[in-house]
Amino acid sequence: SIPAGVRRGAFIVFEGVDRCGKSTQSKRLVDHLNSHGVDAELWRFPDRQTAIGKMINSYLTSQSEIDDAGVHLLFSANRWEKRDAMLRKLQAGTTLVVDRYSHSGVAFTAAKKVPGLDLDWCKAPEFGLPAPDLVFFLQLSVEAAAARGGYGEERYEKEAFQEEVLRQFLSLRDPTWQVIDASASIEDIESKVQTHATEAISHAAAAQVHAIGG
Ligand code: ADP
Ligand code: MG
Repeated sequence: SIPAGVRRGAFIVFEGVDRCGKSTQSKRLVDHLNSHGVDAELWRFPDRQTAIGKMINSYLTSQSEIDDAGVHLLFSANRWEKRDAMLRKLQAGTTLVVDRYSHSGVAFTAAKKVPGLDLDWCKAPEFGLPAPDLVFFLQLSVEAAAARGGYGEERYEKEAFQEEVLRQFLSLRDPTWQVIDASASIEDIESKVQTHATEAISHAAAAQVHAIGG
């Protein structure tokens, strides 16, 4: 059971196109928070360790083919299967810093432009998941992202597709977003992130965890 009077943790998400710096910044933020005595953990989606995550990994690495609607629901289910654990952590006072979440799920499928899988369809399975308190959107052109060593071999790592993903992301922007210029230096971004994260952690303590769409 959760001790009375524990301040809940903040739910902080990093989003953006491949190579914009999400993994770099999420790790640095958790290290910073931990070194200042803040209980914080780094999570990522997809979580490739679960049974569902293994199916997603096999799809992303082109070892299997899955219908677009089906794989969209697997990505969402991969978040749903972590819902209780996320809520328990937040309520126990742990801040979760999450590398990709719901916005990636919606943006990647919407970017495929499959008839029938419009934006509303893409958002629907996300309704009811824990909603982030703060989303860092690391904004970077696909050209600049590609210059950071080029894209890898995974299914979505193609420039034209990433352009469409970026357009979809920007259509999802909401008041929880902090859009950050990801072409700045790692240290400059890190310091902005720390400021906003600290504020979110103090606000979260007094607020309920919201649900997406609720
Ligand atoms: P993502 O997780 O969004 O795909 P990464 O954090 O893995 O991105 O960063 C991709 C590459 O870009 C890595 O080689 C990383 O060291 C580099 N990188 C990250 N942030 C910056 C930055 N602000 N400026 C220049 N290079 C960066
Ligand atoms: Mg990454």
